[in-house]
Amino acid sequence: MAYPHLMAPLDLGFTQLRNRIVMGSMHTGMEDRLKHVGELAEYFAERARGGVALAITGGYAPNRRGWLLPLAGDMTSKRTAHRHREITGAVHDAGGKIALQLLHAGRYAYHPFSASASSTKSRINPFRARALSGGAVERTIDDYAAAAVLAREAGYDGVEVMGSEGYLINQFLAPFTNHRRDEWGGTPEGRRRLPVEIVDRIREAVGPDFIIVYRISLIDLVPDGQTWDETVALAQEVEAAGATILNSGIGWHEARVPTIVTSVPRAAFVDLTARLREHVTIPVTASNRINMPDDAEAILAAGQADLISMARPLLADPAWVEKAAAGRPDEINTCIACNQACLDHTFQNTRVSCLVNPRAGAELELEIEPAAVRRRFAVVGAGPAGLACATTLAQRGHDVDLYEAAQEIGGQFNLARRIPGKEEFAETLRYFRGLLSRTGVNVFLGAIADVPSLAAAGYDEVVLATGVTARVPAIEGIDHPMVRTYAEVVEGAEVGRAAAIVGAGGIGFDVAELLVHDTSPTLDLAAWRREWGVGDPAQTRGGLTAPVVDPPARRVHLLQRKTTRMGKGLGKTSGWVHRMSIQAKGVEMVTGVEYERIDDDGLHVRVGGEPRLFEVDTVVICAGQEPRRDLLDGLVAAGVTTHVIGGADVAAELDAKRAIRQGTELAARL
Ligand code: NAP
Ligand code: SF4
Repeated sequence: MAYPHLMAPLDLGFTQLRNRIVMGSMHTGMEDRLKHVGELAEYFAERARGGVALAITGGYAPNRRGWLLPLAGDMTSKRTAHRHREITGAVHDAGGKIALQLLHAGRYAYHPFSASASSTKSRINPFRARALSGGAVERTIDDYAAAAVLAREAGYDGVEVMGSEGYLINQFLAPFTNHRRDEWGGTPEGRRRLPVEIVDRIREAVGPDFIIVYRISLIDLVPDGQTWDETVALAQEVEAAGATILNSGIGWHEARVPTIVTSVPRAAFVDLTARLREHVTIPVTASNRINMPDDAEAILAAGQADLISMARPLLADPAWVEKAAAGRPDEINTCIACNQACLDHTFQNTRVSCLVNPRAGAELELEIEPAAVRRRFAVVGAGPAGLACATTLAQRGHDVDLYEAAQEIGGQFNLARRIPGKEEFAETLRYFRGLLSRTGVNVFLGAIADVPSLAAAGYDEVVLATGVTARVPAIEGIDHPMVRTYAEVVEGAEVGRAAAIVGAGGIGFDVAELLVHDTSPTLDLAAWRREWGVGDPAQTRGGLTAPVVDPPARRVHLLQRKTTRMGKGLGKTSGWVHRMSIQAKGVEMVTGVEYERIDDDGLHVRVGGEPRLFEVDTVVICAGQEPRRDLLDGLVAAGVTTHVIGGADVAAELDAKRAIRQGTELAARL
């Protein structure tokens, strides 16, 4: 059997999980309104049909004070519980189990009546939380128990108590945010009384045959967080209070250490789960940056965990488990940990989806149905938009010819995968390579499609996904030999000891990362930990140490004309990581630049009206793109029905999320 440890059932005594894969909690944006219950039911059912053993919902508050946002989802009434039967029924019909996550936001609540252990304010939230009174703490515990009883009435197989990521329970656990002197603070025992009482009272209320997962913070990654001894004591007390499973939580949301973005090495925190497992007898779950079955199997085989939790990888591919079980891991559409369509959406308060799987969160809207009539299509360009379009057309039964001028598929993804910290992007190309072959798309590499041959071939319709050309800014000396395009640099063109980067969009930042690194820290866990100051919670509270950053590979200046903060357009949940990473490597970021000329001395500019010379030996142009759609007019004139997608459509927003969605949606309706 493929992946025997991963596919082995787990006996919990009163019930069994069919394998070791837990779909971790993730807020989808569908939790907050009961009118979305049907869509949520299909979202979970699709993953249960794909083989997930236990799904955990996004967070539901046990009371109104615990709402993440005003009017956020909660489990406080029989009416809500009744409506949730649609979700639990759909999952059970598909052979899966599902637990409701109970999450009290504490001081992360985005409303003015937030409450926490003490009156504190997080730097990621404008509202100062009030301190809960002793009576309010007691009532909060009762609310957890009542919510768990309602979850049971709703048909859930269990609840997950969210005790990590810096939410209320975590705020009680850490001296960072718990300054109380009463029985809910003061000592480590006092600080952990809240979670232990919550688990105890839930167990008392729901009886013995109901799953209680406790998500425990293994490393807070904030100053004055918990120590390892405190975490172990908490795990043991929570087990004694009646928890069935421990899930791993890593880092508070306000931590300045990345914990899930793509540049975090795979399975970076599993050693902590393994250490905890030695101190408890209930199953423990590993989490964070586990996205492929080989890694998951290795963790279980080494005895580091009993279960594997994944959230985003199951957004990316609902059939992940089924494909792994069948020994076809190459067919998995891998989560590349970009956050662009999932967490970034959550922070923008919009529904989550997935960059590599636009059907995620739109299961009822974006159906890929067999075509009524089989037709012939040409897709020109094998970047993300063209790949999504060609494979979706072929999945629907159409005949598809895909033309790509380069010798390999991938377009901009072929550049992205070469950036240190973006190695995961290669997985998407591996996925599409296999899918092209399985769906029978005829792929022509090194093929420059032209209007006469496309028109003569008699296609029913043509899709142009021809991408972009790099913008060449009108700077005097732009053809100087020291000037390189970003594509040349990413593909390995020589760069000297000092470089200026013209343009600080996503690609300018990527090029800065490339130029300051000799090797990718993402591929070396010890180096990554050193660079981000990730230590051992047994040595320092919260597990933070002083970062030790290797010197940069060269001197780099990153420039833009705007005077706004650099990197403003980067992803909400990943932009800060890029900024901190290149800052730590000493990249000088200069805004308000007027470019004057490039000559043998370097790049001459004005900043705030003052002349300045960057004495560099290389200037890299990252000044955005223009759409490449030169075939369009000719095809239209020849009477060929033509569609334009991806960067060829809107280069200003050259963006793989939009490109893949646009390609898929077009193909779904042709
Ligand atoms: P971009 O975001 O549009 O940035 C282009 C940069 O060039 C800007 O800093 C702009 O700033 C500058 N610029 C524009 N016209 C110029 C001119 N004529 N002369 C000099 N400078 C000029 O484009 P990009 O960096 O190529 O990225 C494109 C897209 O790729 C992004 O929007 C994103 O969707 C995606 N991407 C994202 C990431 C990421 O988030 N990590 C990474 C790679 C790609 P000024 O006008 O102020 O100088
Ligand atoms: Fe993973 Fe990116 Fe999809 Fe989120 S949007 S699930 S991070 S691939």
